[in-house]
Amino acid sequence: MERADKVIMHTYGRQPLVLVKGEGCRVWDDQGREYLDCVAGLAVVNLGHAHPAIAKAAAAQLTQLVHVSNIYYTTPMVELAEALVRLSFADRVFFANSGAEVNEGAIKLVRRYSRERFGAGRHRIICMENSFHGRTLGALSATGQPKFWQGFDPLLPGFSFVPFNDLEAVAQAVDDTVCAVMLEPIQGEGGVCLPSPDYLPGLRQLCDEKGLLLVLDEIQTGLGRTGTLFAQENFGITPDVMTLAKALANGLPMGALLATAEVAGAFVPGTHASTFGAGPVVAAAANAALSLLSAPEFLAGVRAKGEYVQKALLQLQTKFPVIKEVRGLGLMWGLELTEEGAPVVAACRERGLLLNCTQGNVIRLLPPLIITPKELDATLATLRDAFKAVFP
Ligand code: PLP
Repeated sequence: MERADKVIMHTYGRQPLVLVKGEGCRVWDDQGREYLDCVAGLAVVNLGHAHPAIAKAAAAQLTQLVHVSNIYYTTPMVELAEALVRLSFADRVFFANSGAEVNEGAIKLVRRYSRERFGAGRHRIICMENSFHGRTLGALSATGQPKFWQGFDPLLPGFSFVPFNDLEAVAQAVDDTVCAVMLEPIQGEGGVCLPSPDYLPGLRQLCDEKGLLLVLDEIQTGLGRTGTLFAQENFGITPDVMTLAKALANGLPMGALLATAEVAGAFVPGTHASTFGAGPVVAAAANAALSLLSAPEFLAGVRAKGEYVQKALLQLQTKFPVIKEVRGLGLMWGLELTEEGAPVVAACRERGLLLNCTQGNVIRLLPPLIITPKELDATLATLRDAFKAVFP
């Protein structure tokens, strides 16, 4: 840890742990201590650590073909795009390496589509306060949290912010400079904030009426996290553009930008690119991951576990008034506290449970979706012990 502080830029407030091994829902530190990992790389290793099918697919591809330029075709990429198209509203996919990178792609795509269809001046994107879309300048400019902007201005122009879950505020913000509305279906980093049931359908309708594109960032909510392959399915809508990353290759870096054929038509050769996008190794891993994540019985299992967790967390809330609200869906949960969450995170860590705190006071649970009922019980028991210790 001391060596890291000397040579690595101090962009993270890291937990004092050196992790050396992972398997399923567990990780081990360099002292041999075992932890239940309910951070899961922040919703990345949805299938758990060192998943054998994914390791096998990636390893086989490593000895076959690791990289060629995207000026050639490769089969794993095509198979992955076919699967994503089959499983979603989309007709076309662009691949990149991270969430921020595909959100950059989404911003470019909606601007260019709008320019071609409506002419210049219609480039503004309505985004949400408290949102999170990544740290590159474009994605940061779409992120509605001024604390992340400090010192990086001027940001990219052309973004407006309205409160999440307020349809009227979006309607008010629309004028003839607006081309799209971009949001997370459930705000993750912002504190696991759920929309009311009529919000996303209302946004879909508004976008249709005004000729705006609806962009959903499903980077955290997608790929089984909420008990459906994409969170949008819980709200009965489809977007025009969607971004995925995090769990797509279960830990290898990959992002995907998905769109309808009409919108995707705005990208022609030379307009967008990514050297490593859908390289054969990550694409092979993603194919293995997606076939497991999209299985209906797997998703039904996530929903059942989610209902179990919800009951247990609501029960916990009755014992600890410091828990102001329990929010979540599937296996994405937040406990909003009336006090700082860091002591709870530390107390859990000391007891062999890793979880995360966002916004200072929201304890966030994002376990691997493969978590077993026994591991869930262990998680909930440790959480209870930690609350007892911190809030006696
Ligand atoms: N969008 C959402 C909803 C996220 O939760 C994140 C990361 O936490 C990102 C975008 C950025 O992804 P990346 O860190 O891969 O750039």
